[in-house]
Amino acid sequence: MWRVLRVLCVTLFLTCPACQRGKMFRGIFQMNVRCPVCGVVFERDAGEVTGAMAINTALLCILALIGAVLAIITKIPTGLLIGGTAALMIVSGVFFYRHARAVWVGILFLTGAIFEDV
Ligand SMILES: [Zn+2]
Repeated sequence: MWRVLRVLCVTLFLTCPACQRGKMFRGIFQMNVRCPVCGVVFERDAGEVTGAMAINTALLCILALIGAVLAIITKIPTGLLIGGTAALMIVSGVFFYRHARAVWVGILFLTGAIFEDV
């Protein structure tokens, strides 16, 4: 259990889950193919980014749900609430993109899909 939490926390800081030292991203949206420290390949197969998209979509759904709950329990004008929620969802989707990809790499590492080459 501690290993799972440690790996997910390490990946939230965009750090390699294998060596926990190498940076996963070289730019704002560019992920390194390999860890610069241990050389592990972060995404071995094409299409593995879809897991990160699922994580990001789940996060955005939670934000939309919070917006819907606020519409029900508060008296905030509906137009303002919809606009604010939509703007927050767009900003959050872009901001958490790297973190969602990194957490997905952590999940792949925990399930054995990412491993150090020998
Ligand atoms: Zn590494």
